[in-house]
Amino acid sequence: MNSHETIYYPQDEMNHVLIPVTSGCPYNRCAFCSMYKGVPYRQIPLGEIENQIIYGDLYTERVFLTGADPLAIGFDAMKRVLGLIRKHLPYCACVASYASVRSLVGYSAEALSELHDAGLRLLYIGFESGLDSVLKEMNKGHTVATALAQAAKLNRARLQFNTILIYGIAGQGRSEENAAASAAMVNRFETRKVITMNLKVFDGTPLDESVRCGKFIPADNGERLAEILALITYLDPARPMAFDTTHPTNMIKIRGTLPQDKDRLIREIQQHRKRMG
Ligand code: SF4
Repeated sequence: MNSHETIYYPQDEMNHVLIPVTSGCPYNRCAFCSMYKGVPYRQIPLGEIENQIIYGDLYTERVFLTGADPLAIGFDAMKRVLGLIRKHLPYCACVASYASVRSLVGYSAEALSELHDAGLRLLYIGFESGLDSVLKEMNKGHTVATALAQAAKLNRARLQFNTILIYGIAGQGRSEENAAASAAMVNRFETRKVITMNLKVFDGTPLDESVRCGKFIPADNGERLAEILALITYLDPARPMAFDTTHPTNMIKIRGTLPQDKDRLIREIQQHRKRMG
């Protein structure tokens, strides 16, 4: 791995052992993303991965596999990585990783269940939106139907995952519609947590170009706040599900468990709205 490359990981994993599995992004085409621009995609050789694992503390209880989409390395390679973690870090109870809807398509429910049994216990998946038109506009490379099929497969495999959604991603005037569609999508599967991010327009991305030529008009802060409010209102999980807007991009930092904290979360947003004027 390039020693100057930025390592990205969810904030919930910041205190855990990070093991690089891939470098760069195998897709690298999402219109809003600038994370791996100019970084060639590469699978880290197994020997290098093992060296990193060997130097981990024996009593490590949790590992996060870094890279945009470690599951892109395929079932056999992932099984070997998990085997090395189990061999060298025998007290590790949870291996977590990012995963894309696209790479999950290549795994059967049985394969995912086998990876779960080998130690993979949590995935962070960028679903981003429940609207096909938005996914297409952002060149996300998956549809809502494909996302729902992968979520159902993970639920069958009992492999837990966190759902990442981006508000503001539908642009001006479409936030309510996006919130309703994203909530309707999430309501159809079991997810451990919904993590929201606020759309940022990064220089040099295709989204930046769309903003410059007027094709995409960003929603203002008032509309974005209304989108979070609508999302919480429409979310109706069958089992308790965490809701978390504390990622640094967010305009408001709240968290709780749905459905029981719904009223409190809504109140906190309304109070924030009043403060914004
Ligand atoms: S959002 Fe994820 S999948 Fe899309 S280009 Fe960025 S790192 Fe790759």
